[in-house]
Amino acid sequence: MHTLSNYLGGRWLDGQGAGATLRDPVTGEALARASSAGLDLAAGFDHARRHGGAALRALGYAGRAAMLARLAEALQTHRDKYYDIALRNSGTVRNDSAVDIDGALYTLGYYARLGATLEGGALRLDGEQAALAKNDAYASQHVLAPVRGLALLINAFNFPAWGLWEKAAPALLSGVPIVLKPATATAWLAHEMVRDAIAADVLPPGALSVVCGGADGLLDALHPLDLLSFTGSADTAARLRAHPRLAHDGVRLNAETDSVNSAILGPDAAPGAPAFDSLVREAVREITVKSGQKCTAIRRIMVPSAHYQATAEAIAARLEEVTVGNPRNESVRMGALVSRAQFDAVQAGLAGLRADSDVLFDGGSVALVDADPAVATCMAPWLLGAPDPDAHPSAHHTEVFGPVATLLPYRDVDHAWDMARRGQGSLVVSAYSDDTGFLARTAAELADSHGRVHLVSPEAARAHTGHGNVMPQSMHGGPGRAGGGEELGGLRALGFYHRRCAVQGAPGRLRALDVSPRTD
Ligand code: NAP
Repeated sequence: MHTLSNYLGGRWLDGQGAGATLRDPVTGEALARASSAGLDLAAGFDHARRHGGAALRALGYAGRAAMLARLAEALQTHRDKYYDIALRNSGTVRNDSAVDIDGALYTLGYYARLGATLEGGALRLDGEQAALAKNDAYASQHVLAPVRGLALLINAFNFPAWGLWEKAAPALLSGVPIVLKPATATAWLAHEMVRDAIAADVLPPGALSVVCGGADGLLDALHPLDLLSFTGSADTAARLRAHPRLAHDGVRLNAETDSVNSAILGPDAAPGAPAFDSLVREAVREITVKSGQKCTAIRRIMVPSAHYQATAEAIAARLEEVTVGNPRNESVRMGALVSRAQFDAVQAGLAGLRADSDVLFDGGSVALVDADPAVATCMAPWLLGAPDPDAHPSAHHTEVFGPVATLLPYRDVDHAWDMARRGQGSLVVSAYSDDTGFLARTAAELADSHGRVHLVSPEAARAHTGHGNVMPQSMHGGPGRAGGGEELGGLRALGFYHRRCAVQGAPGRLRALDVSPRTD
């Protein structure tokens, strides 16, 4: 069994005690143990701030971009190993592992290329000078300065690879050292990637640290000018927000949490129309990819009342073709949930949703392929339906983090938009239609309550990047219940890792600030 050592203060250190056991969710085999007990977190964090931060800042933006490019190249050579770990520890089929692993490498490479367009300098300009006195004698220039603290990255179990690098790439490009705390259940892959990154020797000492196992003491070790970027459940986020380092000392938090995302079929899209087919295809993909363990997955499908039955039948027909079970069997399309605890949580959530809805596709009737139902945490997809969606509030509030979605009929477009908003802030909504006016109005109606609005019209049916796929070019995050955070979105991601400061002085002096010309 592997021991997932911690890398802190420039050394690999084993935590004390038995720690937590990571398992193969299909066979139940114990794979690794992780413990962070007994680490000197304060000293390790101090090393990251002092050595990692200083060395990263000295490289400048272009130097750090080149560093990310070398890192992406080094990790790429271990791709097969990462797929093997994902198969064993996350129980995912190859296509699902790709979303995590290739998504991670693509995002890292994207930030390397984007960073190469930034010129050097200790600061970046934010807008133009603003006059503060008559005759241009005195002015204000806003600048963005890389944070001199560290960024603690706490991740969820469903994206051990992508979740690490989509946060780490903008942080490192900004010049901020990171301490990673992967979710314990699937920490092996993140740990291995950190191990390979350290072995590649492309990062300065202190730039990258990892703590595996329990989170005890991590927040206590933060300083007021450090950053915390969190992905996980809204309940954990609430606990973090109440911690004195955040509540009292002002540590800046970015939180990506739960989301009850929706897909809306336009009123123009009858069965047989290209937009109808796009919605059906996308709904099935979102229910089944990574067994629905995606924060962006479609949980609610809204269609005109007249097409409720036809949509139910079309989606159910496709779900029937999905083979579920051991991802080592080539005929299997959908693998496991990541752990027994998640399996139990999803079953409990499904039972709650079923209490007041119809079953349109019964996942309970599907036999597993090559997997023992008493051991494997595999679960077939379910489609539920709520013919009276206003009397079914749980569909709007309950995020079941598995292969489950609920079909909801709408009376008119206002009703559909209103239901989408009942998610109380979501990561993404998608709309399927050939009506430009409807698509544009959907964006206007839902942009304030969603981080991303994904429009699928017939000419984009093949080219669109997918409702649930998070592209680094686009912002990822959402208001309200989704956590209120913002990640990615090209250079916007660097904002979290910089502080804005207004520098006031004579205009000629301000023009001499050591800045990069790009601000977007
Ligand atoms: P979780 O239980 O909230 O755990 C998330 C992370 O927080 C894990 O690394 C966990 O460590 C750590 N943690 C738990 N308690 C902590 C504490 N008191 N202090 C510091 N860290 C603590 O969430 P999860 O079950 O891993 O992930 C599922 C949830 O994440 C779903 O609700 C999903 O919607 C959400 N999610 C959101 C996004 C997004 O981008 N919005 C992406 C993926 C997932 P341990 O593993 O050691 O407990």
